[in-house]
Amino acid sequence: MSSCIFCSIVAGDIPSKKIYEDEHTYAFFDISQVTKGHALVIPKHHHENLFDLPESELTSVYQSVQKVAHALKEAFSPAGLNLVNNNGQAAGQTVFHYHVHLIPRYDVTDGFG
Ligand code: 5GP
Repeated sequence: MSSCIFCSIVAGDIPSKKIYEDEHTYAFFDISQVTKGHALVIPKHHHENLFDLPESELTSVYQSVQKVAHALKEAFSPAGLNLVNNNGQAAGQTVFHYHVHLIPRYDVTDGFG
């Protein structure tokens, strides 16, 4: 098993609730739901953060982000959606495999004010 949690998820060694998958990316629900439907999109290859991510993979990730955004809109009917991407410990990154959070928003009292 990889020492990277998200590599282990891609490999199927750690279970996850899959939303979408293609050749380059994998999307799944965050284990700690900030709001209902909180999802993560990751490249299948290990890259620590935005600074390490090749442009071609950035493109693949954001194509998947848009697909997953549509899927979340369909499934949960949120009023809005935040994209969040933390790069580096100082920026709040805790898993050092590039990922984009998709956080559906329902109203101004759903956790962020
Ligand atoms: P970061 O703080 O690095 O931007 O976000 C990492 C996210 O990964 C957190 O929201 C955390 O809940 C999520 N996470 C950490 N470990 C796991 C796991 O094993 N499974 C899933 N589905 N999410 C995880």
